[in-house]
Amino acid sequence: MQCPYCAKEQNKVIDTRESDVTIRRRRECISCGRRFTTYERIAQTGLMVIKQDGRREAFDRQKLMSGIIKACAKRPVPMQAIESIVDGIEMELHTLAKSEVDSQRIGQLLMERLRVLDDVAYVRFASVYRRFADLDSLAIEIQRLKEKKQREAEERLQVKMAI
Ligand SMILES: [Zn+2]
Repeated sequence: MQCPYCAKEQNKVIDTRESDVTIRRRRECISCGRRFTTYERIAQTGLMVIKQDGRREAFDRQKLMSGIIKACAKRPVPMQAIESIVDGIEMELHTLAKSEVDSQRIGQLLMERLRVLDDVAYVRFASVYRRFADLDSLAIEIQRLKEKKQREAEERLQVKMAI
């Protein structure tokens, strides 16, 4: 089990909690001393992800987590926020109560959440996830975000003036 901060393998378990489907383990990295959480499935819930090329693979929480960590690198995003994003997505996937889910759908759920959390992380993830054909389409996305921010700022101002 790799530390998400320093990638070292050695860690100790400081807390273990079991729910119906998962074992949640709070771990402390022996190398850097930081803490992180891992989840293990008790029973295979067997959620399969259909990838873009049509192949299927088992849903992997850790993989989703490391994707977000990469997108949030050097951003002021606490680990807890990342964990709760993954929790939220996993819960939403379970409420779908399907045995298979499109990787596209997971990407959408993730982008919706990243957009709220951190603009830069969102654009980073979107640029990988959507595989922007070229830099122009990435620039358009960034422009769209800027305009959204601008709009939000203007709306706040209008609210202030109305008061
Ligand atoms: Zn570490």
